[in-house]
Amino acid sequence: MKEDKTMEVMYSSTRDAGVKVTASQAILKGLADDGGLFVPDAIPALDVGLQELSKLNYQETAYVVMKQFLTDFTEEELKRCINAAYDSKFDVKQIAPLKEADGAYYLELFHGPTIAFKDMALSILPHLLITAARKNKVENDIVILTATSGDTGKAALAGFADVEGTKIIVFYPKNGVSPIQERQMVTQKGKNTFVVGIHGNFDQAQTGVKQMFSDKALAELMDKNGYQFSSANSINIGRLVPQIVYYVYAYTRLLADGVIAEGEPVNVVVPTGNFGNILAAYYAKNMGLPIAKLICASNENKVLYDFFETGKYDKNRAFMLTSSPSMDILISSNLERLIYRIAGNDAQKNAQLMKSLSEEGVYEISEDMKKQLSDFYGNYTGEEETAAVIKDLYEKAGYVIDTHTAVAAGVYHKYKEQTKDTAKTVIASTASPFKFTRSVMHAIDPAYDSKTDFELVDELSRISGVKIPQAIEEIRSAPILHDTVCEVEEMPSVVKKFLGISADGTDQRG
Ligand SMILES: *Cc1c(COP(=O)(O)O)cnc(C)c1O
Repeated sequence: MKEDKTMEVMYSSTRDAGVKVTASQAILKGLADDGGLFVPDAIPALDVGLQELSKLNYQETAYVVMKQFLTDFTEEELKRCINAAYDSKFDVKQIAPLKEADGAYYLELFHGPTIAFKDMALSILPHLLITAARKNKVENDIVILTATSGDTGKAALAGFADVEGTKIIVFYPKNGVSPIQERQMVTQKGKNTFVVGIHGNFDQAQTGVKQMFSDKALAELMDKNGYQFSSANSINIGRLVPQIVYYVYAYTRLLADGVIAEGEPVNVVVPTGNFGNILAAYYAKNMGLPIAKLICASNENKVLYDFFETGKYDKNRAFMLTSSPSMDILISSNLERLIYRIAGNDAQKNAQLMKSLSEEGVYEISEDMKKQLSDFYGNYTGEEETAAVIKDLYEKAGYVIDTHTAVAAGVYHKYKEQTKDTAKTVIASTASPFKFTRSVMHAIDPAYDSKTDFELVDELSRISGVKIPQAIEEIRSAPILHDTVCEVEEMPSVVKKFLGISADGTDQRG
């Protein structure tokens, strides 16, 4: 291959055009100082043809896509990150296989260590982060602090476990996560992992973490002891870029299998919460991948559906608890990157809208901006419909999907009915049905309700013909390795103790 002469892609803030940082600096910082998100100054075009891409495996495809965004990483660095992330932690060689069922193509993004799609990005982020740190002459170890209401904490723990130069500390509300989620976290292996239950709710955990991030005295003390904080937040560009890869990979699998001709447009349907996954599909389209419609699926928290209908984003509404909890979100943070783009990359205009969102909980885009949303289609699936979709697909095709994926499939049915569009369609399948076994089995037959969680797991395996994932087997038998519980006020001292920093700031490690 020729020496790569791609132009360096720089990143600016969605709220301040004056900010210019490299990819590695954007990954290290996470969020810009003005509260904006880092965006590439231009979205690069795919520089390898689709036919050629269709011959590449997942890791090779990842390199082709990611090198165009992370231009200050060397080939050797990027390949090392990719190979460390997408290895036997995933239970299939293809990493993200595509399954046809009832006329749609399900892109299974749940074959990683925590059996949900967050693994696609969180398995590589630690490696990108540590490479970025070394590249920017950061000598300190990176300490990831996370507050979790369940899922993200486990995916981050699994991603960072035993990654040299990092430590990860996860706080969760002791009585605020499901028993399975708690077990997943407290059984986490890895010398550099630390899991703490707090006597408080998720908001208190979140606030406690934010306070530590902005505590200057603590930062100094950390620095003196060779540490600095960072976050694995979903707005980090280091989580977004790896998500573009699987859309390219899905398209080129369809091409390789002769399902589509080269250049034939396909639709993608994405069950959406924070808008990260579908934004990655939008970036893939902007790179030149032949994607026709970007179909945004919401559950009953349908802020995004209303936004695509009216041009008005309004979070002032009741928060609904649904059977697809990872999409129970009223502020979709990554939408800001789309708003910035349809505002003509105008940071000032975007900043005004975001100010209105934080002060009034609402903003409205102009007609001009709205016209640029024609690639998107939004709709939502209610709770009963979600259950009916699971049952129907199981009965028709013997294929069992989780509740989040079912929300997407439900929206796809509505889209097809309204538009009569027959283009081939990829549905992002974001969690294994084994992660939401109780809701899934209830949908198939409410008579299952009387069984225990593990009886349901065995039954799901039997009816779907899918082997029980390692992640589930582990929590049946794995020993509990973390039992620290603390008060909210004790969070900083717990962090210091774990890092071996004494109260007066001296290093106590032997
Ligand atoms: C996080 C998550 C989503 C939502 O993805 P966003 O990128 O936040 O839109 C959907 N499904 C599952 C299972 C998730 O964990």
